[in-house]
Amino acid sequence: MRYDVPVASWLDYEYSMEEQKPIRSLTVILRTPGCHWRRCRMCGYWHESAPVTQADIIAQLSYALKSSPNEDFVLKLYTSGSLLDEREIAATTRRRMVQMLLQQKKLKRLIIETRPEYVSAEKIAELAAAVHLEVAIGLETADDFIRLEYIDKGFSFSDYRAAAGIIADCGATVKTYLLLKPPFVDERRAIEDAIKSADLVAPYSSTISLNLCNVQRHTQLEYLWRRGYYRPPWLWSAIEVIRAIKSERRGTVVMSDPVGAGHSRGPHNCGSCDTTVKEAIKRFNITQDLHILEGINCDCREIWAAQVRFDKLLFGSIVDHVQAGRA
Ligand SMILES: [Zn+2]
Repeated sequence: MRYDVPVASWLDYEYSMEEQKPIRSLTVILRTPGCHWRRCRMCGYWHESAPVTQADIIAQLSYALKSSPNEDFVLKLYTSGSLLDEREIAATTRRRMVQMLLQQKKLKRLIIETRPEYVSAEKIAELAAAVHLEVAIGLETADDFIRLEYIDKGFSFSDYRAAAGIIADCGATVKTYLLLKPPFVDERRAIEDAIKSADLVAPYSSTISLNLCNVQRHTQLEYLWRRGYYRPPWLWSAIEVIRAIKSERRGTVVMSDPVGAGHSRGPHNCGSCDTTVKEAIKRFNITQDLHILEGINCDCREIWAAQVRFDKLLFGSIVDHVQAGRA
């Protein structure tokens, strides 16, 4: 494994709210010592970590920037952890990065990812001085119980709100990741939780990214999935949630990268409609046009709809049972 090249980097498109059209994007996943939390049940990204030096990280960025497009672009600079955690990216490295980004004349926006506890006005202001900054936070859900108990994320909704306030005060914007179908949550509650969470994060977020839960290797979620205690979300659920969120909020960019769609470990439908639905979601991401999600159909939609109804019946009867026990 080479430490002086990033884990991955690729060119794509992303919707620009300012210009109301797709814009080129360069995504770079830097290899760092990795996330220091490492407890989230669905996350296997820490396998991408390695004992790299700060000089290696600068070399990785410089390598990736060689493929920066010769037109206006967005740079998504990720670490599979928190870019603002100074055990991953030291303060001096962060400042060196800002100098490198100032040389990128076509760079319009920088997106980084971090847990909220590493957000400070000083760090945000430093990065925001170079270019329009968007800070992505993996809140997953606005429900503290689901986030703390089912995901083991280790921070609260108020931690997220505090970080979002600091980011806004520095003139940067927030991108919030919501997780569709965390472990131990059935299909119906997953849909309801994502829609309700979007309502609660919308005041703080310029972009809401719906992450469709997939089963990564060597995770607790994989352990559950192998034993039949977890099925990744249906792509119909993703469409349902995207439509509900976007139709309420035209001014918020709503997107969902259907990673692993159509595979048993990823979000999937019946197998025959997966590619069609996945391509529709990808086209929606860069156009924000809800018409693209209309009129897609397949026989399996009935099975999905029945499961969602059944989840409600079952969950409703459990709640009744628990309440009867308390009475
Ligand atoms: Zn189908």
